[in-house]
Amino acid sequence: MTMASALVPGGSTEYARQGNPTWESFESVLGALEGGRALAFSSGVAASAALFDLVPIGAVVVAPRHAYYGTIAQLVERDRRGQVQLRLVDIDNTPQVVEACQGAALLWIESPTNPALQLADIETIARAATQAGAAVAVDNTFATPLRQKPLELGADFSVHSASKLLAGHSDVILGAIVTADDRAHAALEKRRTVLGAIPGAMETWLAVRGMRTLHVRLDRAEANAKELHRRLSDSRHVVYSRYPGFGTIIAFEVAGGAVAAQKMTEQSDIITYATSLGGVESTWERRRRHPGEPESVPEGLIRLSVGIEDVEDVWIDIQNVLAAVT
Ligand SMILES: *Cc1c(COP(=O)(O)O)cnc(C)c1O
Repeated sequence: MTMASALVPGGSTEYARQGNPTWESFESVLGALEGGRALAFSSGVAASAALFDLVPIGAVVVAPRHAYYGTIAQLVERDRRGQVQLRLVDIDNTPQVVEACQGAALLWIESPTNPALQLADIETIARAATQAGAAVAVDNTFATPLRQKPLELGADFSVHSASKLLAGHSDVILGAIVTADDRAHAALEKRRTVLGAIPGAMETWLAVRGMRTLHVRLDRAEANAKELHRRLSDSRHVVYSRYPGFGTIIAFEVAGGAVAAQKMTEQSDIITYATSLGGVESTWERRRRHPGEPESVPEGLIRLSVGIEDVEDVWIDIQNVLAAVT
C-alpha cells in the first residue's frame, strides 16, 4: 500500500491527487472483471457526481423513479438548478424507458433497483438509448461484476459503490466507474483530479483485499438469500417476499405493516439494524423510516441484506422476531 502524498518529480505521478499505485491495483482488478478500465472515487456518490458533471448543461437525463436515494437526490437538485432536465421512469417498463430516451443525453439504469428490486431489460433499453444518441450508465452495485457485466450488455459506464459487496466488510467507503471508452475515461479522470473526489490509499487496499473473497462471499450470501426468500414466502406472517433471482438483497412486507416492521428490525439479535448493505453480516431496516424514501415504497417494506452466516441462525432470528411482533 502506498500512503505517500509527495512523489518524486519526473515519475508518472507528481502529486497524490493525480494517482496512486494502490488505486491502480483496485482499478485493474475491477476493470478486468467488467471488461473496461476502472477509476476509483472517494465514494459511490462521488463517482456518479463525476459522471453527471459530464452531461451538457440543460440536457435530458433519464433515471429510475426507484433507485439509490443519493443518486436521485443529486439529479433532482441538478434539475432544480437548471443543470439537467430529469425524466423519471419505471425502469422495468421497457417501452416507457425507450420513449423517454428520445432527445436524452444520458440514461441512468439501476438494476436490480433499490429497494423495490425491479429488473430492467438492460440490453434492450441500452440499445435504444444508444440509437437515440444517449450515453448509458448502469449502477451495478447490487449485482457486482460476477452477476452482471453492463459493458457487455451495451452500457457505456458501469458505476459502483465499492462500499458494499466489492469491499464487503462494512469498513470502507469507496466508489468506481468502469468504461471501455478512452475519451470518457480521460474526462472522468480529469473530473476526479479537478474536484479532488479521490479515494484513500487505505480504502482501495481494503477493497482489493475484500475482492479476493468476493466470489466466495457472494456464493454463500446468495445461497442464504435464496433459502431465506423461500422460507419468508411460505411464512404466514409475511405478505410477500421479493428476490430478483440473484444477489444478496431481499425485500419483504410483514403482516402488521409499518409498526410491526419497525419493531421487528429493531429487535433482531443476529441481523444488525442498519441501512448499510453488502457486508458479511446480515443487516435490515424498514426503508420508509427514511423521510426521503418515495411514498410509492410501502410503509412496511423491509430490505434485508443477507450475509454469510449460517442460514439456520439467521432464520431462527427472523422467526423469533416475526412471532414476537405479528
Ligand atoms: C450505497 C449505494 C450507492 C452510494 O455509494 P456510497 O459509496 O455510499 O457513496 C450508490 N448506489 C447504490 C445502489 C448503493 O447501494
